[in-house]
Amino acid sequence: MSNSHISKSIYQLDITPSKFLGKINQDIKCDIAIIGGGLTGVSAALSLGEKGYNICLFEAGNIGDGGSGRNGGQICQGWSSSFEKLSKYIDPEFKEEMWQAGIKGPALINERIKKYKIKCDVQWGYVHTAIHNGHMRELEEYQKIFEAHGYSQLHTLENKQSLFDYIRSDAYIGGLYDAGSGHLHPLKYLIGISKAAENAGVNIYTNSHICSIQTANHKNKLTTREGHQITAEQLIICGNAYLGNVSPKKLRRRMAPVTSSVMATEPLNDSEIKASIPSKAAIADGNTALNYFRIDKQNRMIFGGRASYLNKDPNNVEADLKKRMNAVFPNLNNKKILQAWSGRIGITVNRLPDFGRISNTAIYVQGYSGHGVAFSGVAGNILSDAVTGKNKIFNQLTKIQHLPFPGGPLRTPVLALGMSWFKLKDYFKI
Ligand SMILES: Cc1cc2nc3c(=O)[nH]c(=O)nc-3n(C[C@H](O)[C@H](O)[C@H](O)COP(=O)(O)OP(=O)(O)OC[C@H]3O[C@@H](n4cnc5c(N)ncnc54)[C@H](O)[C@@H]3O)c2cc1C
Repeated sequence: MSNSHISKSIYQLDITPSKFLGKINQDIKCDIAIIGGGLTGVSAALSLGEKGYNICLFEAGNIGDGGSGRNGGQICQGWSSSFEKLSKYIDPEFKEEMWQAGIKGPALINERIKKYKIKCDVQWGYVHTAIHNGHMRELEEYQKIFEAHGYSQLHTLENKQSLFDYIRSDAYIGGLYDAGSGHLHPLKYLIGISKAAENAGVNIYTNSHICSIQTANHKNKLTTREGHQITAEQLIICGNAYLGNVSPKKLRRRMAPVTSSVMATEPLNDSEIKASIPSKAAIADGNTALNYFRIDKQNRMIFGGRASYLNKDPNNVEADLKKRMNAVFPNLNNKKILQAWSGRIGITVNRLPDFGRISNTAIYVQGYSGHGVAFSGVAGNILSDAVTGKNKIFNQLTKIQHLPFPGGPLRTPVLALGMSWFKLKDYFKI
């Protein structure tokens, strides 16, 4: 049986692994240590490196081994849960700035692609599809809220006819097009910003697993698996759903790792593209256990979906995703699957990101709840500002209340049970 967590993503197969500093082989002192070589950690490192700080970033495996090199590549603006929910926690004078923080992820990606000349197959255009009338009503509501804040890149696809210019599938009755969101090759983008961070002076250590974190007495001490010590004035933790037992207790209780899976087909020919996603926009449907898919620059269908809340490797990933894809595009039934893989998403109870402190000199973010490709860049900048004293937005975000997941050691079965209810709701279209 294949282990889809260990399977490389198609993105990892596409590129030759880039060389960074490799494993730590001595004790190190630095201004700021960052744990995690995903989109968040590298974004924070890039922004701090460019400000001239002495930064060391530690990644347990290779850059992008976590969710950042395994995701669906969908760039989606906005917060991971409703802005109304978020607004309840923040001071009114920060509301507009907070709204902007939610939607500036795609623009930041675009800015970095141009600035660092990153070739990462970016394509703009995104369709939220509706399976039933309830989804259409939700999309109408979504559009109203965005337009009230001055966002003018959305237009309604009110029926199948208008949807067919973008996506040809009988699975959907309509949708909402967003010209400001899109998709990219996430690992090419991440390597691009990592190289930019390295050029800005950041020391990037790969294969360097941090196995203990101590934050007492205003000094941060990290220890690697081989026993090397890192001493840092400030610490930023960006290990997200991959931190495991190293995670301080506070973080562990507020975030649950959920497994999502993706597959890539062999390239589609022109007529298959015209009969599936002629617009080449990224697509996501309105279900809780949603399908998300796109045609990439090599014309492969990158199809993601299913979620496992049991924190273990899911079975039959390829067969299950194939079944899901065939329900949307029966004409692709015979396409060969090049690769299927899984990765860990960090989710929070309220689906809003969890920003916080574990001491005066150690901060973290986690739990983008499946919505991190665009937002991770913004979050990295918020963390980088916070450690340099510009911490107003960070402080506001720490006010979001995050309940612990119920169930203690049994929390993943409890979560699985809870999510079954949402899947039933999807099934019965309520
Ligand atoms: C299958 C899948 C599909 C997804 N699809 C989408 C999508 O289409 N669009 C979207 O917006 N979001 C998507 N997401 C979510 C998105 O990928 C994440 O929100 C985002 O990548 C999080 O980035 P990060 O840097 O915070 O965490 P990660 O990318 O998970 O990085 C954390 C890193 O920390 C390292 N690490 C952990 N512990 C240690 C330690 N002790 N020492 C050293 N290093 C450590 C890990 O090895 C890892 O590389 C998806 C996620 C998955 C798994």
